[in-house]
Amino acid sequence: MQPVYFYNTLTRQKEEFKPLKPGRVGFYTCGPTVYDYPHIGNFRAYLFEDILRRTLEYNGYQVKQVMNITDVGHLTSDADEGEDKLEKGSKREGRTVWEIIEFYTKVFKENLHELNIEDPTIWCKATDYIQEQIDFAKKLESKGLTYVISDGLYFDTSKYPGYATLAKLNISGQQEGARVETNAEKRNPADFALWKFSPKDQQRQMEWDSPWGKGFPGWHLECSAMSFKELGEEFDIHASGIDHIPVHHTNERAQNWGLTDKESVKYWIHSEFLLVDGGKMGKSLGNLITLQQIKDKGFSPLAFRYLALQVHYRSKLNFTWEALEAAQRGYDNLVNEIKSFGLAGKIIPEFETQFKQVVSDDLNTPKALAILQEVLKANYPSSDKRATIITFDKIFGLNLNQITEAVELSREQEELLAQRQQAKVVKDFKKADELRSVLAEQGIKVVDLPDNQYKLEKSQ
Ligand code: AMP
Ligand code: ZN
Repeated sequence: MQPVYFYNTLTRQKEEFKPLKPGRVGFYTCGPTVYDYPHIGNFRAYLFEDILRRTLEYNGYQVKQVMNITDVGHLTSDADEGEDKLEKGSKREGRTVWEIIEFYTKVFKENLHELNIEDPTIWCKATDYIQEQIDFAKKLESKGLTYVISDGLYFDTSKYPGYATLAKLNISGQQEGARVETNAEKRNPADFALWKFSPKDQQRQMEWDSPWGKGFPGWHLECSAMSFKELGEEFDIHASGIDHIPVHHTNERAQNWGLTDKESVKYWIHSEFLLVDGGKMGKSLGNLITLQQIKDKGFSPLAFRYLALQVHYRSKLNFTWEALEAAQRGYDNLVNEIKSFGLAGKIIPEFETQFKQVVSDDLNTPKALAILQEVLKANYPSSDKRATIITFDKIFGLNLNQITEAVELSREQEELLAQRQQAKVVKDFKKADELRSVLAEQGIKVVDLPDNQYKLEKSQ
């Protein structure tokens, strides 16, 4: 079996992937907070996770991927301050939080499908796991790792000696920063809410009873509770964008340790940011780009996917409209070239080996695309090139196979085609021409290519 390597944020090293259970992978991915349209930065992260899962599957692993939908508890600041993003979305649009959740979850999933991102094995919504989150917090409390202050139940991060490891945080620096800390009741600046109480002066749409008081779960708790429920207390991979390292994943890891006294996640893998015109993308900067905008400008979602594949997931991707134009052109050329290739070829083993090696080396998609270009230039029958490229597409996910399906043949037509190929092999050209005419009458044009190859087109 080809070894697979990933860069593990926890060790800051590229490591050979060794699953906890042979042949199987438990994979957790932080999903969207469904209060607004997702942007193309988010989709860069989901594309990276899609490539990660496809690479494991290509290598023969059975992957159980879990993705959450954050539909409660994510506040406007990643710390525990500000308004719940869902309640905010609800006020903005004059719809209930439940309507907001339904609408933006639907948009998110449609966008994923347009980008050819495959669904995870399990979707889970935070509000469906409230009891699991309360139980998790109760266990942490019973181990003496929590305390209650006026706005909620908090995790005491000073109890976890490994707290700073994942993000290489400077904790003493944080202590100094504590002078500007907004919540003076917290014991340590890094402490975070497991359960927040509903504000006394306003009615929340989403709130639940708990042993500590009416309220709602903290954002980090949902991922710990749901990953443990669906994947067990030890699992292989946890992924998302790098912005989650210092707060969200650091806090998840602290909770996991609190419950199990172990390092629950073996590989933490994070993708770099997408920038717009070299800078940060943000609503307040007015440069937030959605997939809808990309489509409105006449680009196909798969051109964006192609663009994302051109940059390694651990490098920043600088999005410009010019770069997207170039990607669209490159993608169209690729599709057109493959359209001219013959059918029914064989995979070229040397290219397949090279391809598998580079994608398995920390998901090197830019190199994998370079190999695809080599295949295009190589001196092989075009049908073999097509077969090879279509195998690559198991990972690229660029729908490069759609072209062969454009002409659909009935059983009888397939039989006629096979007879025609046979007639050509035995040099019975009269019969071959006759059969071609029969197919042409049925709307199928057979175009001969060198090396006894052919392609099919719809005849007018
Ligand atoms: P959120 O809904 O904020 O939790 O983000 C969803 C996913 O998108 C997470 O994996 C984030 O790390 C990722 N993400 C957010 N902004 C960007 C960006 N500009 N570039 C790349 N990934 C991002
Ligand atoms: Zn998460």
